Amino acid sequence: MTTKQTPKTEPDCDVVVVGAGFAGIYALHQARQRGFSVRGFERGTDVGGTWYWNAYPGARCDVESYNYAYFFDNDIVRDWDWSDACAGHDEIQRYLRFAAERCDVLKDITFNTKVLSVIYDENTGLWSLRTGAGETVVCRYAVLAIGALSDPKAPDIKGVDSFAGEAYFTSSWPKDRSVDLSGKRVGVIGTGSSGVQVVPEVAKVAAEVTVFQRTANYVTPTRSGPMDQNVVAGLREDPQAVRRAFRESYGGHTPLAIGDERFTELDAAGRERALQKAWKGKYVELAFRDTYLPEANAAISDFIRERMQEQVDDAWTAQHLVPWDHPYGGKRPCMSNVYLQTFNQPNVRLVALPETPIEEIIPTGIRTSTETIPLDVIVYATGFDAISGPVFAIDISGIDGCSMKDAWVDGPMNYLGTMVYGFPNLFLPSSAMSPSVLSNMATLAEQQIDFIFDTIDWLEQHGRPLLHPLPKSQEHWREETLRYAKRRPGALTTKSWYSGANVPGKARVFMVYCGGFKRYNQTCYGELEEGFPGYELLASPQSAGTTG
Ligand code: NAP
Repeated sequence: MTTKQTPKTEPDCDVVVVGAGFAGIYALHQARQRGFSVRGFERGTDVGGTWYWNAYPGARCDVESYNYAYFFDNDIVRDWDWSDACAGHDEIQRYLRFAAERCDVLKDITFNTKVLSVIYDENTGLWSLRTGAGETVVCRYAVLAIGALSDPKAPDIKGVDSFAGEAYFTSSWPKDRSVDLSGKRVGVIGTGSSGVQVVPEVAKVAAEVTVFQRTANYVTPTRSGPMDQNVVAGLREDPQAVRRAFRESYGGHTPLAIGDERFTELDAAGRERALQKAWKGKYVELAFRDTYLPEANAAISDFIRERMQEQVDDAWTAQHLVPWDHPYGGKRPCMSNVYLQTFNQPNVRLVALPETPIEEIIPTGIRTSTETIPLDVIVYATGFDAISGPVFAIDISGIDGCSMKDAWVDGPMNYLGTMVYGFPNLFLPSSAMSPSVLSNMATLAEQQIDFIFDTIDWLEQHGRPLLHPLPKSQEHWREETLRYAKRRPGALTTKSWYSGANVPGKARVFMVYCGGFKRYNQTCYGELEEGFPGYELLASPQSAGTTG
Protein backbone atom coordinates (compact mmCIF):
# COMPACT_ATOMS: atom_id res chain seq x y z
CA MET A 1 0.00 0.00 0.00
CA THR A 2 1.37 3.45 -0.83
CA THR A 3 0.71 6.35 1.48
CA LYS A 4 0.16 9.72 -0.12
CA GLN A 5 2.41 12.36 1.42
CA THR A 6 1.38 15.98 1.81
CA PRO A 7 3.68 18.07 -0.39
CA LYS A 8 6.13 20.18 1.58
CA THR A 9 5.59 23.91 1.24
CA GLU A 10 8.97 24.98 2.59
CA PRO A 11 12.36 23.92 1.26
CA ASP A 12 14.51 21.52 3.25
CA CYS A 13 17.55 23.24 1.83
CA ASP A 14 18.43 25.83 -0.80
CA VAL A 15 20.23 23.55 -3.24
CA VAL A 16 20.33 19.84 -4.00
CA VAL A 17 23.23 18.50 -6.05
CA VAL A 18 22.89 15.07 -7.65
CA GLY A 19 26.18 13.36 -8.53
CA ALA A 20 29.64 13.63 -6.98
CA GLY A 21 32.01 13.72 -9.94
CA PHE A 22 33.98 16.76 -11.09
CA ALA A 23 30.88 18.95 -11.45
CA GLY A 24 29.02 17.70 -8.37
CA ILE A 25 31.92 18.16 -5.94
CA TYR A 26 32.55 21.67 -7.19
CA ALA A 27 28.81 22.47 -7.07
CA LEU A 28 28.65 21.46 -3.40
CA HIS A 29 31.69 23.61 -2.72
CA GLN A 30 30.20 26.61 -4.54
CA ALA A 31 26.91 26.23 -2.70
CA ARG A 32 28.73 26.27 0.65
CA GLN A 33 31.03 29.14 -0.34
CA ARG A 34 28.04 31.27 -1.26
CA GLY A 35 26.20 30.56 1.95
CA PHE A 36 23.51 28.17 0.72
CA SER A 37 22.33 25.13 2.58
CA VAL A 38 22.91 22.09 0.40
CA ARG A 39 22.39 18.33 0.18
CA GLY A 40 24.24 16.04 -2.20
CA PHE A 41 23.25 12.58 -3.42
CA GLU A 42 25.53 10.06 -5.10
CA ARG A 43 24.61 6.55 -6.22
CA GLY A 44 28.19 5.26 -5.75
CA THR A 45 29.77 4.60 -2.39
CA ASP A 46 32.39 7.29 -2.94
CA VAL A 47 33.02 10.41 -5.01
CA GLY A 48 34.47 10.17 -8.52
CA GLY A 49 31.57 9.83 -10.97
CA THR A 50 32.98 8.42 -14.20
CA TRP A 51 36.21 7.59 -12.44
CA TYR A 52 34.41 5.69 -9.72
CA TRP A 53 32.44 3.47 -12.09
CA ASN A 54 34.81 2.86 -15.00
CA ALA A 55 37.34 0.93 -12.93
CA TYR A 56 38.28 -1.53 -15.67
CA PRO A 57 41.93 -2.55 -16.10
CA GLY A 58 43.75 0.04 -18.22
CA ALA A 59 41.26 2.88 -17.67
CA ARG A 60 43.02 6.21 -17.79
CA CYS A 61 42.29 9.69 -19.07
CA ASP A 62 43.42 10.80 -22.51
CA VAL A 63 43.29 14.45 -21.49
CA GLU A 64 46.56 15.30 -19.76
CA SER A 65 46.63 15.66 -15.99
CA TYR A 66 48.06 19.17 -16.49
CA ASN A 67 44.65 20.14 -17.83
CA TYR A 68 42.24 17.56 -16.47
CA ALA A 69 42.06 18.90 -12.94
CA TYR A 70 40.50 21.62 -10.83
CA PHE A 71 42.03 25.08 -10.94
CA PHE A 72 39.66 27.01 -8.68
CA ASP A 73 41.86 26.54 -5.64
CA ASN A 74 45.59 27.34 -5.68
CA ASP A 75 46.35 24.94 -2.83
CA ILE A 76 44.65 22.02 -4.56
CA VAL A 77 46.77 22.70 -7.65
CA ARG A 78 49.95 23.03 -5.60
CA ASP A 79 49.42 20.17 -3.17
CA TRP A 80 48.51 17.37 -5.55
CA ASP A 81 51.20 15.48 -7.48
CA TRP A 82 50.11 13.46 -10.47
CA SER A 83 52.15 10.35 -11.11
CA ASP A 84 51.43 10.30 -14.86
CA ALA A 85 50.73 12.85 -17.57
CA CYS A 86 47.55 10.86 -18.32
CA ALA A 87 46.43 9.63 -14.93
CA GLY A 88 44.77 6.27 -14.35
CA HIS A 89 41.17 5.98 -13.15
CA ASP A 90 42.14 5.09 -9.57
CA GLU A 91 44.43 8.11 -9.25
CA ILE A 92 41.78 10.48 -10.61
CA GLN A 93 39.25 9.00 -8.21
CA ARG A 94 41.69 9.53 -5.31
CA TYR A 95 42.29 13.08 -6.52
CA LEU A 96 38.57 13.83 -6.48
CA ARG A 97 38.34 12.44 -2.95
CA PHE A 98 41.28 14.67 -1.97
CA ALA A 99 39.54 17.71 -3.50
CA ALA A 100 36.23 16.84 -1.80
CA GLU A 101 38.02 16.52 1.54
CA ARG A 102 39.82 19.82 1.03
CA CYS A 103 36.48 21.50 0.25
CA ASP A 104 34.90 19.71 3.21
CA VAL A 105 31.86 18.64 1.21
CA LEU A 106 31.86 14.92 2.01
CA LYS A 107 29.61 15.60 5.00
CA ASP A 108 26.96 16.99 2.65
CA ILE A 109 26.76 13.88 0.45
CA THR A 110 24.46 10.93 1.01
CA PHE A 111 26.22 8.06 -0.76
CA ASN A 112 24.87 4.83 -2.14
CA THR A 113 21.62 6.62 -2.90
CA LYS A 114 19.99 7.01 -6.26
CA VAL A 115 17.72 9.94 -7.01
CA LEU A 116 14.69 8.47 -8.76
CA SER A 117 12.56 11.53 -9.43
CA VAL A 118 12.86 15.30 -9.60
CA ILE A 119 9.41 16.89 -9.60
CA TYR A 120 8.48 20.58 -9.83
CA ASP A 121 5.67 21.84 -7.63
CA GLU A 122 3.88 24.76 -9.28
CA ASN A 123 2.16 25.76 -6.07
CA THR A 124 5.43 26.41 -4.31
CA GLY A 125 7.97 26.85 -7.14
CA LEU A 126 10.09 24.22 -5.39
CA TRP A 127 11.73 21.03 -6.59
CA SER A 128 11.08 17.76 -4.84
CA LEU A 129 13.67 14.99 -5.19
CA ARG A 130 12.83 11.45 -4.18
CA THR A 131 15.55 8.91 -3.52
CA GLY A 132 15.67 5.14 -3.78
CA ALA A 133 15.90 5.06 0.01
CA GLY A 134 12.46 6.68 0.17
CA GLU A 135 13.62 10.13 1.28
CA THR A 136 12.07 13.27 -0.22
CA VAL A 137 14.10 16.47 -0.20
CA VAL A 138 12.62 19.79 -1.29
CA CYS A 139 14.81 22.60 -2.56
CA ARG A 140 14.72 25.84 -4.51
CA TYR A 141 17.54 25.01 -6.92
CA ALA A 142 18.31 21.54 -8.28
CA VAL A 143 21.68 20.84 -9.91
CA LEU A 144 21.79 17.49 -11.72
CA ALA A 145 25.53 16.89 -12.09
CA ILE A 146 24.88 13.40 -13.38
CA GLY A 147 27.46 13.27 -16.15
CA ALA A 148 27.27 12.74 -19.89
CA LEU A 149 28.53 9.16 -20.00
CA SER A 150 26.99 7.57 -16.94
CA ASP A 151 24.11 5.54 -18.32
CA PRO A 152 25.49 2.30 -19.83
CA LYS A 153 23.87 1.23 -23.07
CA ALA A 154 22.25 -2.21 -23.12
CA PRO A 155 24.36 -4.50 -25.36
CA ASP A 156 21.32 -5.15 -27.61
CA ILE A 157 22.58 -8.60 -28.62
CA LYS A 158 20.37 -11.67 -28.70
CA GLY A 159 20.99 -14.12 -25.86
CA VAL A 160 23.00 -11.83 -23.55
CA ASP A 161 21.34 -13.26 -20.45
CA SER A 162 21.90 -16.86 -21.49
CA PHE A 163 25.69 -16.72 -21.09
CA ALA A 164 26.79 -19.16 -18.38
CA GLY A 165 30.29 -17.71 -17.87
CA GLU A 166 31.37 -14.46 -16.21
CA ALA A 167 30.26 -11.17 -17.76
CA TYR A 168 31.62 -7.69 -17.00
CA PHE A 169 30.88 -4.22 -18.23
CA THR A 170 33.77 -1.76 -18.44
CA SER A 171 31.29 0.90 -17.28
CA SER A 172 30.65 -0.85 -13.95
CA TRP A 173 33.75 -2.94 -13.36
CA PRO A 174 33.61 -4.67 -9.94
CA LYS A 175 35.18 -2.57 -7.21
CA ASP A 176 34.61 -4.93 -4.31
CA ARG A 177 36.79 -7.76 -5.63
CA SER A 178 39.53 -8.36 -8.14
CA VAL A 179 38.60 -9.99 -11.41
CA ASP A 180 40.98 -12.79 -12.32
CA LEU A 181 41.08 -13.38 -16.06
CA SER A 182 44.30 -15.38 -16.06
CA GLY A 183 44.23 -18.46 -18.23
CA LYS A 184 40.67 -17.77 -19.39
CA ARG A 185 39.10 -17.45 -22.83
CA VAL A 186 37.85 -13.88 -22.94
CA GLY A 187 35.68 -12.16 -25.54
CA VAL A 188 35.68 -8.34 -25.62
CA ILE A 189 32.81 -6.65 -27.44
CA GLY A 190 33.42 -3.03 -28.41
CA THR A 191 36.43 -1.10 -29.65
CA GLY A 192 35.81 2.47 -28.50
CA SER A 193 38.03 4.20 -25.94
CA SER A 194 37.16 1.66 -23.23
CA GLY A 195 37.70 -1.38 -25.46
CA VAL A 196 41.01 -0.02 -26.74
CA GLN A 197 42.24 0.39 -23.17
CA VAL A 198 40.96 -2.87 -21.72
CA VAL A 199 42.04 -5.25 -24.52
CA PRO A 200 45.84 -4.97 -23.94
CA GLU A 201 45.35 -5.52 -20.19
CA VAL A 202 43.16 -8.57 -20.74
CA ALA A 203 45.64 -9.92 -23.29
CA LYS A 204 48.44 -9.82 -20.71
CA VAL A 205 46.81 -12.57 -18.65
CA ALA A 206 44.08 -14.33 -20.61
CA ALA A 207 44.73 -17.57 -22.47
CA GLU A 208 42.78 -16.37 -25.50
CA VAL A 209 41.27 -12.99 -26.33
CA THR A 210 38.72 -12.53 -29.09
CA VAL A 211 37.94 -8.91 -29.91
CA PHE A 212 34.55 -8.35 -31.54
CA GLN A 213 34.78 -5.14 -33.54
CA ARG A 214 31.81 -3.50 -35.24
CA THR A 215 33.55 -0.25 -36.22
CA ALA A 216 37.28 0.39 -36.18
CA ASN A 217 38.54 3.55 -34.50
CA TYR A 218 41.50 5.85 -34.91
CA VAL A 219 44.25 5.02 -32.43
CA THR A 220 47.12 7.46 -31.94
CA PRO A 221 49.97 7.42 -29.41
CA THR A 222 49.03 8.22 -25.84
CA ARG A 223 50.69 11.09 -24.01
CA SER A 224 50.87 8.95 -20.88
CA GLY A 225 54.29 9.09 -19.19
CA PRO A 226 56.17 11.08 -16.58
CA MET A 227 54.94 14.58 -15.79
CA ASP A 228 57.07 17.41 -17.16
CA GLN A 229 58.06 19.20 -13.96
CA ASN A 230 58.67 22.47 -15.79
CA VAL A 231 55.06 22.45 -17.00
CA VAL A 232 53.89 21.57 -13.48
CA ALA A 233 55.91 24.46 -12.00
CA GLY A 234 54.35 26.82 -14.55
CA LEU A 235 50.82 25.71 -13.61
CA ARG A 236 51.52 26.08 -9.92
CA GLU A 237 52.98 29.54 -10.25
CA ASP A 238 49.64 31.17 -11.04
CA PRO A 239 46.76 28.67 -11.23
CA GLN A 240 44.20 31.45 -11.68
CA ALA A 241 45.96 32.68 -14.83
CA VAL A 242 45.85 29.09 -16.15
CA ARG A 243 42.16 28.93 -15.31
CA ARG A 244 41.44 32.12 -17.21
CA ALA A 245 43.52 30.95 -20.18
CA PHE A 246 41.54 27.68 -20.37
CA ARG A 247 38.30 29.64 -20.63
CA GLU A 248 39.78 31.74 -23.41
CA SER A 249 40.80 28.66 -25.39
CA TYR A 250 38.90 26.57 -27.93
CA GLY A 251 38.93 23.25 -26.06
CA GLY A 252 39.06 24.34 -22.43
CA HIS A 253 42.73 23.54 -22.10
CA THR A 254 46.10 24.57 -23.45
CA PRO A 255 47.50 22.03 -25.91
CA LEU A 256 51.10 21.18 -25.09
CA ALA A 257 52.02 21.21 -28.78
CA ILE A 258 50.49 22.29 -32.08
CA GLY A 259 51.88 22.48 -35.61
CA ASP A 260 53.23 25.91 -36.50
CA GLU A 261 52.41 25.82 -40.22
CA ARG A 262 49.21 25.88 -42.25
CA PHE A 263 48.20 22.89 -44.37
CA THR A 264 47.10 25.24 -47.15
CA GLU A 265 50.54 26.88 -47.30
CA LEU A 266 52.60 23.68 -47.48
CA ASP A 267 53.52 21.51 -50.46
CA ALA A 268 53.25 17.71 -50.29
CA ALA A 269 56.73 17.28 -48.78
CA GLY A 270 56.07 19.99 -46.21
CA ARG A 271 52.80 18.36 -45.18
CA GLU A 272 54.48 14.97 -44.78
CA ARG A 273 57.24 16.58 -42.70
CA ALA A 274 54.70 18.32 -40.46
CA LEU A 275 52.72 15.11 -40.01
CA GLN A 276 55.83 13.05 -39.15
CA LYS A 277 56.92 15.66 -36.63
CA ALA A 278 53.46 15.81 -35.07
CA TRP A 279 53.23 12.01 -34.89
CA LYS A 280 56.54 11.85 -33.01
CA GLY A 281 55.47 14.75 -30.80
CA LYS A 282 52.09 13.07 -30.09
CA TYR A 283 49.97 15.89 -31.43
CA VAL A 284 49.12 14.52 -34.88
CA GLU A 285 45.50 15.72 -34.64
CA LEU A 286 46.89 19.26 -34.38
CA ALA A 287 49.61 18.82 -37.01
CA PHE A 288 48.58 22.02 -38.82
CA ARG A 289 47.35 25.39 -37.63
CA ASP A 290 44.35 24.96 -39.94
CA THR A 291 43.77 21.37 -38.86
CA TYR A 292 39.98 21.97 -38.83
CA LEU A 293 39.85 22.22 -42.68
CA PRO A 294 38.38 19.10 -44.31
CA GLU A 295 41.41 18.74 -46.59
CA ALA A 296 43.82 18.95 -43.63
CA ASN A 297 41.65 16.48 -41.73
CA ALA A 298 41.71 14.09 -44.72
CA ALA A 299 45.52 14.20 -44.81
CA ILE A 300 45.70 13.60 -41.05
CA SER A 301 43.22 10.70 -41.33
CA ASP A 302 45.23 9.04 -44.13
CA PHE A 303 48.48 9.52 -42.27
CA ILE A 304 47.11 7.91 -39.09
CA ARG A 305 45.67 4.99 -41.08
CA GLU A 306 49.13 4.29 -42.50
CA ARG A 307 50.84 4.50 -39.11
CA MET A 308 48.20 2.20 -37.61
CA GLN A 309 48.67 -0.48 -40.26
CA GLU A 310 52.45 -0.43 -39.76
CA GLN A 311 52.02 -1.58 -36.19
CA VAL A 312 50.13 -4.77 -37.00
CA ASP A 313 51.90 -7.83 -38.47
CA ASP A 314 48.99 -9.66 -40.06
CA ALA A 315 47.76 -7.92 -43.21
CA TRP A 316 44.07 -8.86 -42.81
CA THR A 317 44.03 -7.74 -39.17
CA ALA A 318 45.86 -4.49 -39.99
CA GLN A 319 43.41 -3.71 -42.76
CA HIS A 320 40.43 -4.34 -40.49
CA LEU A 321 41.73 -2.41 -37.48
CA VAL A 322 41.86 0.77 -39.53
CA PRO A 323 38.79 3.04 -39.76
CA TRP A 324 38.07 3.52 -43.45
CA ASP A 325 34.47 4.63 -42.99
CA HIS A 326 34.89 7.96 -41.21
CA PRO A 327 37.36 10.82 -40.97
CA TYR A 328 39.48 11.45 -37.90
CA GLY A 329 37.28 12.96 -35.17
CA GLY A 330 33.98 11.72 -36.62
CA LYS A 331 33.90 9.33 -33.69
CA ARG A 332 35.75 9.93 -30.45
CA PRO A 333 39.34 8.89 -31.31
CA CYS A 334 41.33 6.58 -29.05
CA MET A 335 44.88 6.79 -27.76
CA SER A 336 47.18 3.88 -26.97
CA ASN A 337 50.76 2.82 -27.56
CA VAL A 338 49.96 -0.85 -27.14
CA TYR A 339 46.46 -1.61 -28.47
CA LEU A 340 47.38 -2.30 -32.08
CA GLN A 341 50.52 -4.29 -31.21
CA THR A 342 48.40 -6.46 -28.92
CA PHE A 343 46.98 -8.07 -32.06
CA ASN A 344 50.49 -9.37 -32.83
CA GLN A 345 50.27 -11.62 -29.76
CA PRO A 346 49.42 -15.24 -30.63
CA ASN A 347 46.57 -15.30 -28.06
CA VAL A 348 44.69 -12.34 -29.57
CA ARG A 349 42.33 -12.41 -32.50
CA LEU A 350 40.04 -9.90 -34.20
CA VAL A 351 36.54 -10.72 -35.39
CA ALA A 352 35.22 -8.13 -37.85
CA LEU A 353 31.48 -8.00 -37.23
CA PRO A 354 30.46 -6.32 -40.50
CA GLU A 355 31.76 -9.49 -42.24
CA THR A 356 30.79 -12.07 -39.63
CA PRO A 357 28.14 -10.57 -37.35
CA ILE A 358 27.28 -11.91 -33.93
CA GLU A 359 24.10 -13.94 -34.28
CA GLU A 360 23.66 -14.86 -30.67
CA ILE A 361 25.29 -15.15 -27.29
CA ILE A 362 24.89 -18.72 -26.11
CA PRO A 363 25.63 -20.29 -22.71
CA THR A 364 29.12 -21.35 -23.79
CA GLY A 365 30.22 -18.38 -25.85
CA ILE A 366 29.38 -16.32 -28.92
CA ARG A 367 27.97 -17.61 -32.18
CA THR A 368 28.77 -15.54 -35.26
CA SER A 369 27.49 -16.11 -38.78
CA THR A 370 30.40 -18.49 -39.43
CA GLU A 371 31.51 -20.08 -36.16
CA THR A 372 30.94 -20.64 -32.46
CA ILE A 373 33.63 -19.14 -30.24
CA PRO A 374 33.80 -20.79 -26.80
CA LEU A 375 34.33 -18.26 -23.98
CA ASP A 376 34.72 -18.26 -20.21
CA VAL A 377 34.27 -14.50 -19.87
CA ILE A 378 32.61 -11.73 -21.90
CA VAL A 379 33.69 -8.12 -21.38
CA TYR A 380 31.18 -5.62 -22.69
CA ALA A 381 32.85 -2.35 -23.69
CA THR A 382 29.69 -1.37 -25.52
CA GLY A 383 29.37 2.25 -24.45
CA PHE A 384 26.68 4.52 -23.12
CA ASP A 385 23.33 6.06 -23.83
CA ALA A 386 25.24 9.31 -23.88
CA ILE A 387 24.19 12.75 -22.68
CA SER A 388 20.40 12.38 -22.69
CA GLY A 389 20.52 8.83 -21.23
CA PRO A 390 21.39 9.90 -17.66
CA VAL A 391 18.68 12.59 -17.80
CA PHE A 392 16.05 10.08 -18.91
CA ALA A 393 17.16 7.66 -16.21
CA ILE A 394 15.55 10.02 -13.68
CA ASP A 395 11.83 10.81 -13.72
CA ILE A 396 11.95 14.59 -14.18
CA SER A 397 8.82 16.66 -14.55
CA GLY A 398 8.38 20.43 -14.73
CA ILE A 399 5.64 22.99 -15.33
CA ASP A 400 2.21 21.46 -16.11
CA GLY A 401 3.65 18.07 -15.17
CA CYS A 402 5.54 17.94 -18.48
CA SER A 403 8.16 15.21 -18.33
CA MET A 404 11.70 15.71 -19.61
CA LYS A 405 11.17 12.65 -21.81
CA ASP A 406 8.30 14.46 -23.54
CA ALA A 407 10.20 17.75 -23.73
CA TRP A 408 13.12 15.93 -25.38
CA VAL A 409 11.14 13.47 -27.48
CA ASP A 410 12.87 14.79 -30.62
CA GLY A 411 16.24 14.98 -28.89
CA PRO A 412 17.67 17.34 -26.28
CA MET A 413 16.55 20.97 -26.31
CA ASN A 414 18.06 23.50 -23.94
CA TYR A 415 19.72 26.87 -23.82
CA LEU A 416 23.45 27.19 -23.23
CA GLY A 417 23.65 23.56 -22.31
CA THR A 418 22.32 24.05 -18.81
CA MET A 419 18.60 24.95 -18.60
CA VAL A 420 15.41 23.67 -20.22
CA TYR A 421 12.16 25.54 -20.97
CA GLY A 422 9.45 24.41 -18.56
CA PHE A 423 11.93 23.35 -15.87
CA PRO A 424 12.62 26.54 -13.89
CA ASN A 425 15.61 26.70 -11.55
CA LEU A 426 16.69 23.22 -12.62
CA PHE A 427 20.27 23.04 -13.87
CA LEU A 428 21.83 20.32 -15.98
CA PRO A 429 25.62 20.70 -16.17
CA SER A 430 27.61 18.37 -18.51
CA SER A 431 24.49 17.86 -20.57
CA ALA A 432 23.58 18.37 -24.22
CA MET A 433 24.56 21.38 -26.36
CA SER A 434 27.52 22.33 -24.19
CA PRO A 435 31.18 21.87 -25.22
CA SER A 436 31.07 18.77 -22.97
CA VAL A 437 32.92 15.75 -24.32
CA LEU A 438 34.64 17.69 -27.11
CA SER A 439 36.29 19.91 -24.52
CA ASN A 440 38.14 19.45 -21.27
CA MET A 441 35.36 18.19 -18.99
CA ALA A 442 37.17 19.44 -15.87
CA THR A 443 37.22 23.02 -17.20
CA LEU A 444 33.62 22.64 -18.29
CA ALA A 445 32.59 21.46 -14.81
CA GLU A 446 34.11 24.56 -13.22
CA GLN A 447 32.77 26.97 -15.85
CA GLN A 448 29.23 25.61 -15.79
CA ILE A 449 29.04 25.43 -12.01
CA ASP A 450 30.38 28.99 -11.73
CA PHE A 451 27.79 30.14 -14.27
CA ILE A 452 25.00 28.25 -12.50
CA PHE A 453 25.84 29.69 -9.09
CA ASP A 454 26.39 33.18 -10.50
CA THR A 455 22.89 32.78 -11.95
CA ILE A 456 21.52 31.61 -8.60
CA ASP A 457 23.19 34.57 -6.87
CA TRP A 458 21.57 36.90 -9.42
CA LEU A 459 18.17 35.34 -8.74
CA GLU A 460 18.67 35.71 -5.01
CA GLN A 461 19.49 39.38 -5.48
CA HIS A 462 16.47 40.00 -7.73
CA GLY A 463 13.66 38.77 -5.48
CA ARG A 464 14.09 35.07 -6.18
CA PRO A 465 12.13 34.73 -9.39
CA LEU A 466 12.03 31.43 -11.24
CA LEU A 467 14.18 31.29 -14.37
CA HIS A 468 13.88 29.19 -17.48
CA PRO A 469 14.93 29.80 -21.08
CA LEU A 470 12.59 31.00 -23.81
CA PRO A 471 11.67 28.39 -26.43
CA LYS A 472 13.14 30.62 -29.14
CA SER A 473 16.49 30.69 -27.26
CA GLN A 474 16.53 26.91 -27.23
CA GLU A 475 15.78 26.75 -30.95
CA HIS A 476 18.52 29.28 -31.64
CA TRP A 477 20.99 27.31 -29.52
CA ARG A 478 20.17 24.05 -31.26
CA GLU A 479 20.71 25.77 -34.62
CA GLU A 480 24.02 27.17 -33.37
CA THR A 481 25.08 23.69 -32.25
CA LEU A 482 24.19 22.32 -35.67
CA ARG A 483 25.92 25.21 -37.47
CA TYR A 484 29.21 24.49 -35.72
CA ALA A 485 28.81 20.72 -36.10
CA LYS A 486 28.56 21.21 -39.88
CA ARG A 487 32.06 22.71 -39.81
CA ARG A 488 33.52 19.73 -37.99
CA PRO A 489 34.73 17.02 -40.38
CA GLY A 490 32.67 13.85 -40.00
CA ALA A 491 30.43 15.22 -37.25
CA LEU A 492 27.20 14.82 -39.18
CA THR A 493 28.24 12.03 -41.53
CA THR A 494 29.54 9.52 -38.97
CA LYS A 495 27.37 7.23 -36.87
CA SER A 496 28.54 8.15 -33.39
CA TRP A 497 27.23 8.53 -29.88
CA TYR A 498 27.71 12.30 -30.30
CA SER A 499 24.48 12.22 -32.28
CA GLY A 500 22.75 9.31 -30.56
CA ALA A 501 23.43 6.86 -33.41
CA ASN A 502 24.73 4.12 -31.08
CA VAL A 503 21.37 3.58 -29.42
CA PRO A 504 18.63 2.01 -31.56
CA GLY A 505 15.60 4.29 -31.80
CA LYS A 506 17.30 7.29 -30.17
CA ALA A 507 16.56 10.71 -31.70
CA ARG A 508 19.43 11.76 -33.96
CA VAL A 509 20.63 15.17 -32.83
CA PHE A 510 24.26 16.27 -32.68
CA MET A 511 24.54 16.92 -28.94
CA VAL A 512 27.87 18.72 -28.51
CA TYR A 513 28.45 22.44 -29.00
CA CYS A 514 31.60 22.86 -31.11
CA GLY A 515 31.74 26.65 -31.22
CA GLY A 516 34.63 26.63 -28.78
CA PHE A 517 34.94 27.19 -25.09
CA LYS A 518 35.68 30.90 -25.32
CA ARG A 519 32.55 31.66 -27.32
CA TYR A 520 30.47 29.40 -25.06
CA ASN A 521 31.70 31.12 -21.89
CA GLN A 522 31.17 34.58 -23.38
CA THR A 523 27.61 33.72 -24.44
CA CYS A 524 26.77 32.44 -20.95
CA TYR A 525 28.13 35.50 -19.20
CA GLY A 526 26.61 37.83 -21.82
CA GLU A 527 23.21 36.58 -20.68
CA LEU A 528 24.05 37.16 -17.04
CA GLU A 529 25.42 40.64 -17.65
CA GLU A 530 22.31 41.69 -19.59
CA GLY A 531 19.82 40.30 -17.06
CA PHE A 532 18.96 37.09 -18.95
CA PRO A 533 17.23 38.39 -22.10
CA GLY A 534 17.12 34.86 -23.52
CA TYR A 535 15.15 33.58 -20.55
CA GLU A 536 11.78 34.08 -18.94
CA LEU A 537 11.53 35.18 -15.32
CA LEU A 538 8.46 33.96 -13.43
CA ALA A 539 7.31 35.26 -10.08
CA SER A 540 7.87 32.60 -7.47
CA PRO A 541 4.91 31.59 -5.33
CA GLN A 542 7.49 30.85 -2.63
CA SER A 543 8.06 33.51 0.02
CA ALA A 544 11.58 34.64 0.79
CA GLY A 545 11.92 32.13 3.63
CA THR A 546 14.86 29.79 3.45
CA THR A 547 16.86 27.42 5.50
CA GLY A 548 20.26 28.73 6.33
P1 NAP B 1 31.90 3.77 -27.24
O1 NAP B 1 32.92 4.72 -27.70
O2 NAP B 1 30.49 4.07 -27.51
O3 NAP B 1 32.29 2.36 -27.82
C1 NAP B 1 31.40 1.29 -27.73
C2 NAP B 1 31.90 0.20 -28.64
O4 NAP B 1 31.02 -0.90 -28.54
C3 NAP B 1 31.90 0.61 -30.10
O5 NAP B 1 33.00 0.01 -30.71
C4 NAP B 1 30.59 0.05 -30.60
O6 NAP B 1 30.57 -0.19 -31.99
C5 NAP B 1 30.56 -1.25 -29.83
N1 NAP B 1 29.23 -1.81 -29.70
C6 NAP B 1 28.17 -1.27 -29.07
N2 NAP B 1 27.11 -2.09 -29.14
C7 NAP B 1 27.53 -3.17 -29.83
C8 NAP B 1 26.90 -4.36 -30.25
N3 NAP B 1 25.63 -4.61 -29.97
N4 NAP B 1 27.62 -5.25 -30.97
C9 NAP B 1 28.90 -5.00 -31.26
N5 NAP B 1 29.56 -3.90 -30.90
C10 NAP B 1 28.87 -3.00 -30.19
O7 NAP B 1 32.02 3.54 -25.64
P2 NAP B 1 33.32 3.61 -24.74
O8 NAP B 1 34.45 2.94 -25.37
O9 NAP B 1 32.91 3.18 -23.38
O10 NAP B 1 33.65 5.15 -24.70
C11 NAP B 1 32.63 6.11 -24.49
C12 NAP B 1 33.26 7.45 -24.27
O11 NAP B 1 33.78 7.53 -22.93
C13 NAP B 1 34.46 7.73 -25.13
O12 NAP B 1 34.10 8.11 -26.42
C14 NAP B 1 35.15 8.82 -24.33
O13 NAP B 1 34.53 10.05 -24.50
C15 NAP B 1 34.93 8.33 -22.91
N6 NAP B 1 36.07 7.50 -22.51
C16 NAP B 1 37.26 8.13 -22.39
C17 NAP B 1 38.38 7.41 -22.06
C18 NAP B 1 39.69 8.10 -21.99
O14 NAP B 1 39.79 9.28 -21.74
N7 NAP B 1 40.72 7.40 -22.26
C19 NAP B 1 38.29 6.04 -21.84
C20 NAP B 1 37.04 5.43 -21.96
C21 NAP B 1 35.93 6.16 -22.30
P3 NAP B 1 30.11 1.00 -33.00
O15 NAP B 1 31.23 1.99 -32.98
O16 NAP B 1 29.91 0.32 -34.28
O17 NAP B 1 28.84 1.57 -32.41
